[in-house]
Amino acid sequence: MSIYNVILVAVDLSSEAQQLASKARELAHANNATLHLVHVIEPLSFAYGGDVPMDLSSIQDQLDEHAHNKLAHFGERMDYPISGQHVVSGHTETEIHRLADSLNVDLIVVGSHGRHGLALLLGSTANGVLHGAHCDVLAVRVHETEAPDSE
Ligand code: AMP
Repeated sequence: MSIYNVILVAVDLSSEAQQLASKARELAHANNATLHLVHVIEPLSFAYGGDVPMDLSSIQDQLDEHAHNKLAHFGERMDYPISGQHVVSGHTETEIHRLADSLNVDLIVVGSHGRHGLALLLGSTANGVLHGAHCDVLAVRVHETEAPDSE
């Protein structure tokens, strides 16, 4: 019996993202589910607003292209058919919710660092995704890796 038909994996493209891949793959296999990947790019204008007296669009285009390539590479390594690789722009939690709704996702997989103290008070992406999601959310504990992502 399949519990989850459509699974969305939120990928931050860090070296830690691989830690989500194996769990998401096993879940997708066990449920014979459709698997989607999403990476959200927060626009440079969110960070810099109108404070930078230059056109950021070509830098933004390069970031978008880089993200597409890295997400495609991540998808190839998942060893499971990927139904959609989505690189979207905006606020991370909002865009994950929006995409999950539009794809009729029934499980979102996110990484969680299991932070506590001040970091917990400030919130995390996993926390933000959980609040406001219309479906189940699986927070996979990820461990910080020392090595920089060489991909
Ligand atoms: P964080 O709380 O920012 O350390 O991120 C924890 C998890 O949130 C990551 O493992 C991803 O599953 C998800 N996440 C964070 N940033 C993004 C992003 N830009 N796009 C997609 N998922 C993200």
